[in-house]
Amino acid sequence: MRLEGKQLVGAEAITATGAMIYAVNPQTNEQLEPGYAAGGTVEVEQACSLAWEAFDAYRETELEVRARFLEGIADEVEAIGDLLIERAMAETGLPRPRLEGERGRTCSQLRLFANVVRAGEWLDVRIDSALPERQPMPRVDLRQRHIALGPVAVFGASNFPLAFSVAGGDTASALAAGCPVVVKAHSAHPGTSELVGRAIQRAVEKFQLPPGVFSLLYGSGREVGQGLVTDARIKAVGFTGSRSGGTALVAAAQARPEPIPVYAEMSSINPVFLLPAALESRAAELGEAFVDSLNMGAGQFCTNPGLIIAQKSDGLNRFLQAAGASIQETASHTMLTPGIYEAYTKGVANLTLSGKVRVVAHGPAGQGANACQANLFATSASDFLSDAVLQDEVFGSTSLVIECNDQDEMGRVAEQLEGQLTATLQMDSADMELARGLLPILERRAGRVMANGWPTGVEVCHAMVHGGPYPATSDSRTTSVGSAAIHRFLRPVCYQNLPDILLPAALRDGNPYGVSRLVDGERKS
Ligand code: NAP
Repeated sequence: MRLEGKQLVGAEAITATGAMIYAVNPQTNEQLEPGYAAGGTVEVEQACSLAWEAFDAYRETELEVRARFLEGIADEVEAIGDLLIERAMAETGLPRPRLEGERGRTCSQLRLFANVVRAGEWLDVRIDSALPERQPMPRVDLRQRHIALGPVAVFGASNFPLAFSVAGGDTASALAAGCPVVVKAHSAHPGTSELVGRAIQRAVEKFQLPPGVFSLLYGSGREVGQGLVTDARIKAVGFTGSRSGGTALVAAAQARPEPIPVYAEMSSINPVFLLPAALESRAAELGEAFVDSLNMGAGQFCTNPGLIIAQKSDGLNRFLQAAGASIQETASHTMLTPGIYEAYTKGVANLTLSGKVRVVAHGPAGQGANACQANLFATSASDFLSDAVLQDEVFGSTSLVIECNDQDEMGRVAEQLEGQLTATLQMDSADMELARGLLPILERRAGRVMANGWPTGVEVCHAMVHGGPYPATSDSRTTSVGSAAIHRFLRPVCYQNLPDILLPAALRDGNPYGVSRLVDGERKS
């Protein structure tokens, strides 16, 4: 398949007229063909109009048809073959095994949502039967189900060119909920986006769905992105990226005559607490495992362990020694884009210029363009508590160790943390009481609390929460990874006294979809 550099609007591929967007190979800084002429208000109007036209028909597709459509997208993405991996490697500098793994995750995510759609639990059907004889007042027949919110704008993420981009988690969960999707491609990987976008177009056609179920636009965030978020036909937004980008989109969505939800995943430094007994018994092992997690993918993960918190001790000294030695031996990896490399360099400079951190170790500088040099810094708890700059996300392989004088200081650091995607306790059984004391604080600060693991690596499953209070996300009530992500794009509707024939299938007597329902307070499957 040849890349054409066109906008995918419904079933069409059209050439826009804006400034050219080219991917850049971050390993060489070379521009990659073809150019993608940026879209603008015309393309936003076309895509939103088609999405709105498709909405009522798509949201009522039979569950089996919608499930097979999601599986069909996965099949089409796999059928692209090596071309997809090679283009993604050229556009992101990520290595082949990482991208092959990410393609696997993307497709299994789509298939997971297919099964979620089939099971129908997300409809959350509740029926309270009429009680005409009830005294002193009769009760009418009341039935509830969830329906899709409407067309969703999805922003492709730079750091997951497959799993959080065109056919990634936000798209899969919105399509599963019954929402048409308009994707604003990330300008760093337009070719990868086109390949996946065309795969979705083929699946839409194969399952004879309305063409407006999916569109893919290229262009600037300020024009195409804000254009989508402020279009009255868009009813929700999925975003992964910077705090400034996510916050701007939340503001735009709130300023609309009809405000809409924005599910923005933004910035998290994922604190790891090294508790005393764990440090005492396995400091060196922890130091090495920490550096593996820190250095994975040049640290360009939202779950990168950017903060280590521990009490001063001989164990902490051994941890720093082992982590420092490991960092010096790590290979340096290319970052995703020159812009992300620049932001990383600036973030590292902000830490050093604060005058409040000391260098524990640097990694090797790296030879090629945009190579990420890993860093480990340390600071005191009192400096951390008094300087907000030390909490800023440095997107890349840099982490800061907070040295606390005692357990109380550790608790104060935990209390002062901004909202996080994850919080980790490295603990042994002798640390149980300290962990029990920290847990209520960490639950308030993070979406996922873990023991004896590392935050990188997010399982796509039913129990996962990839969310958390601001600035980790703009809405801590949901998750962007895992099957519960479907709930972001649904809302409940109650049907009072409607004749059976007018009710949606899931609510009818006889339960034609065979879904689990709460009938008069009792679960019936
Ligand atoms: P970004 O700058 O936030 O861009 C993400 C997407 O949002 C792009 O499509 C961009 O459009 C659009 N956008 C940005 N600001 C916007 C605005 N004000 N209005 C409308 N659309 C807007 O993120 P990035 O390019 O992926 O990376 C930049 C930095 O974000 C990184 O250095 C890192 O600090 C952070 N980041 C964090 C995570 C995380 O998971 N925590 C993930 C990725 C990035 P354009 O095409 O115009 O750029």
